[in-house]
Amino acid sequence: STTASWSDTELMEPHVGYKKVLVTGGAGFIGSHVADYLLERGDDVVIIDELNEYYDVTIKESNLRLLTEKYGEERVAIYRGDICDATLMTELFEKERPQWVCHMAARAGVRPSIEDPFVYIHSNIQGTTQLMELAHRYGVQNFVFASSSSVYGGSKSTFFSEDEVVDNPVSPYAASKKTCELLAYTYHHLYKLNVTGLRFFTVYGPRGRPDMAPFKFIDRVSRGAEIQQFGDGSSSRDYTYISDIVDGVVRSIDRPYAYQIFNLGKGDGTSLREFISLVEKHTGKAANRKILPDQPGDVPYTCADVRKAQHLLGYTSKVSFEDGIAKTARWYRQTYMKNKVEVLPQVEAPTTTIQL
Ligand code: NAD
Repeated sequence: STTASWSDTELMEPHVGYKKVLVTGGAGFIGSHVADYLLERGDDVVIIDELNEYYDVTIKESNLRLLTEKYGEERVAIYRGDICDATLMTELFEKERPQWVCHMAARAGVRPSIEDPFVYIHSNIQGTTQLMELAHRYGVQNFVFASSSSVYGGSKSTFFSEDEVVDNPVSPYAASKKTCELLAYTYHHLYKLNVTGLRFFTVYGPRGRPDMAPFKFIDRVSRGAEIQQFGDGSSSRDYTYISDIVDGVVRSIDRPYAYQIFNLGKGDGTSLREFISLVEKHTGKAANRKILPDQPGDVPYTCADVRKAQHLLGYTSKVSFEDGIAKTARWYRQTYMKNKVEVLPQVEAPTTTIQL
């Protein structure tokens, strides 16, 4: 890519003042961290989340409690419901009039999308369309939404850049995210809605999703339970610590572009072997691994090209993988071991080499 092709001429004025931001999926992992950051700096937040049971709902309830206890209910308006519910969503826009939208709600997970594609089409495609429809009708200034590195699924390269055109999503989840990007272009084209899609690369950290490898490995190694290692451990992927993702999301909220897609990742890969040995180091326990053959179709090495986000958003990842794992393991101990909270049951997660 040449930096010249990343023209910032379409950049609207960066916005520094107070905002009321609609954070969809604000009870979830990434949404609740973004809401926390925005509230901390003085913005007000409106959350819509259906608190579905994709994973333990008490985690989402506790994410919301954390926000209301920290900032007070007058600064965090919480709506519980489906983003596809046109009546509810119209009421929300009518009452709250958010001028900024950070759309994080989606059904996530690659494997489960193969088993039940319809719920992904509903929440991700129908839901995003519903929100963009209202965003344009209510004159929203910037619409930022979560896409995913999974859109690179069928790519032959291992260093993923936004300029590469990939139209080979390999799961309904990936196809739903690619469709959101296409619809976003349509809303930009038809109505001049400012819209930015952010392709996250495997996000982990405190309050991370229990169906994903970083949480699962820390949890299972801490308890002496078996973990599954696919292949010889040399496969490698790009893991991004939550505070780096929040930084990228907020930079994007503050810098409306007419239409842009950005990778948000760490920008380098960590091998599965290195990942497991860091988990061992920071939990103080030896991993009990079950070695399984490589999964067919797995890509041996994936990594985000983050130069575009660096150039146009000023984004750089700051947290090393080792620091990120250390912080996550510390959080895990404090949350699940000190308080003797029952450890979550094992959730079948996608293999570590599928792009989430
Ligand atoms: P999450 O499951 O923790 O959060 C998503 C939230 O959205 C949940 O609280 C869920 O209840 C809510 N939700 C889902 N469908 C809804 C609907 N129809 N109406 C209302 N609420 C609904 O997941 P996350 O990891 O925080 O992911 C946030 C976003 O980032 C998602 O769009 C996901 O696809 C994307 N993403 C995440 C990762 C990652 O590594 N965590 C990677 C790539 C992309």
